[in-house]
Amino acid sequence: MPGQVFIVSAPSGTGKTTLLRELLSWQPRLRFSISYTTRPPRPGEVPGQDYFFVSSEEFRRLKDWGALVEYVEQFGHWYGTSREWVMQTLAAGFDLVFDVDTRGAKALKHSFPHGTYIFILPPDLDTLAARLQKRGDLTPAELTRRLAAGRQELKEAYWYDYLVINDDIHQAVEKLKAIWLASHCHTRTLWPTVSPRYL
Ligand code: ADP
Ligand code: 5GP
Repeated sequence: MPGQVFIVSAPSGTGKTTLLRELLSWQPRLRFSISYTTRPPRPGEVPGQDYFFVSSEEFRRLKDWGALVEYVEQFGHWYGTSREWVMQTLAAGFDLVFDVDTRGAKALKHSFPHGTYIFILPPDLDTLAARLQKRGDLTPAELTRRLAAGRQELKEAYWYDYLVINDDIHQAVEKLKAIWLASHCHTRTLWPTVSPRYL
């Protein structure tokens, strides 16, 4: 049976990367959708694990070949979902977590209408600004730009299936685990697999 998809968005700085790392280390059936990006790696980021880091020329070629399920320009860099990675991972039976902005999530909704769409919210806007600052890898101009973009992203939260407020990190991780478990009990997912036992 092919895996399920979980699409996760959040304003930059909310804590999405931190939460998803916890979720992925908890559940071996979950894999991360490794995107292509033209942005340079941050300290600690591993190529081929966090992102496939590519040049602008390479990204353009991938786009032209149709190698990307969706792509966006964000904060002056390109980001795109690898079609090959997605197809291979799902065909192998793994669930897939997509870390994409709200435009990417909307595009994926066409390909994966039955996916689980999760929006992670900061407790409030001041906390969001403080967390972005704490990450310590942004210039003041970029910080301002990401906060403004984050406010726009928040306007899209209403159409996602689940909202998780990342206040206490432990509680937020528990909620993500609960969403994963619930989606695996969904009739649409489970009945086709188990019904032969009963019918
Ligand atoms: P994102 O991927 O959404 O941009 P990160 O996961 O990089 O965000 O987190 C941004 C900063 O906030 C990091 O310094 C991280 O340690 C911190 N952080 C994440 N979640 C929480 C939380 N629940 N409480 C306090 N700090 C947090
Ligand atoms: P960052 O530079 O902080 O890693 O990511 C910036 C933004 O780009 C985040 O909102 C992240 O979710 C989004 N992003 C990362 N990869 C992709 C992708 O493949 N497609 C889309 N649409 N957004 C992405």
